Amino acid sequence: MQVVRITPRGYCYGVVDAQKLVRQVAEDPKTRKPIFVLGLIVHNRHAVEELDRYGVVSLDGENRLELLERVSEGTVIFTAHGVSQEVRRRAAEKGLDVVDATCPDVTKTHDLIRTLADEGYTVLYIGRRGHPEPEGAMGEAPDRVHLIETAEDVRELDLAGKRLAVVTQTTLSRWDTDATIAQLRQLYPEVEVYNEICLATQLRQEAAVRQAEACDLVIVVGDTRSNNSNRLVQVVKEQAARPAYLVDGVDDIDPRWLEGKATVGVTSGSSTPSPITRDVIHFLEQFESQSQVGDRRE
Ligand code: SF4
Repeated sequence: MQVVRITPRGYCYGVVDAQKLVRQVAEDPKTRKPIFVLGLIVHNRHAVEELDRYGVVSLDGENRLELLERVSEGTVIFTAHGVSQEVRRRAAEKGLDVVDATCPDVTKTHDLIRTLADEGYTVLYIGRRGHPEPEGAMGEAPDRVHLIETAEDVRELDLAGKRLAVVTQTTLSRWDTDATIAQLRQLYPEVEVYNEICLATQLRQEAAVRQAEACDLVIVVGDTRSNNSNRLVQVVKEQAARPAYLVDGVDDIDPRWLEGKATVGVTSGSSTPSPITRDVIHFLEQFESQSQVGDRRE
């Protein structure tokens, strides 16, 4: 069995910078304590556990505003996913020190939504319900943004005669959004489209689809809550027509997936620490040699 290391994979610059910033803040003696991260700095259990060691408290929950009510003093860090204006206002009201680790690509989308809303557009934001990024982005102009996740959401719209613009979440797949955009264009031919899928997400997805074609199976290393990791599984299955599994680490690999497979590809989401992916690759290579030893003994 051959193990193909799909590249590029793993950490993007937004995740690297966010983690670096949290470590710097934690190590700076001038930082007001306690230090809280509003949400998980990135959606990966291992990455969050690493920050625990710096004495940083990660607050987990779906709604950033509700999480903020648990904080009454010290420093609050906004994650790479971004936060709404309401969260910023509330943190200031509470007199907290604020550190903003929002990814510049997410900030760019926030700026775009604000500009479009100011110009009178109604914004159709294609994103995942319950994910923090739509919560923050839609919070730029809550009265003017509709969240679109399913075909049903599109059918329920009644926006004839309005100036419309489509904006996408950064970590979706273009194949997904293309279908929704086509549906929107049919109903509202004048709609303007702003594809905000970030380059890191796009490059990882395109590489996974291209390189999966030479594989019998692809293993994606990432957390179940990581949107970009889940999308990697989806694009491999749908675009490369190969089986794909999401694993948090070696323990999640079911050896039965590997039976009879000659080539296994490995990739990882942009929030997955490299050592976890290296362990998975190492396991697969060992598994390969164990199988070959087994074959030789038979
Ligand atoms: Fe930024 Fe894209 Fe990385 Fe998200 S996946 S942190 S938007 S570079």
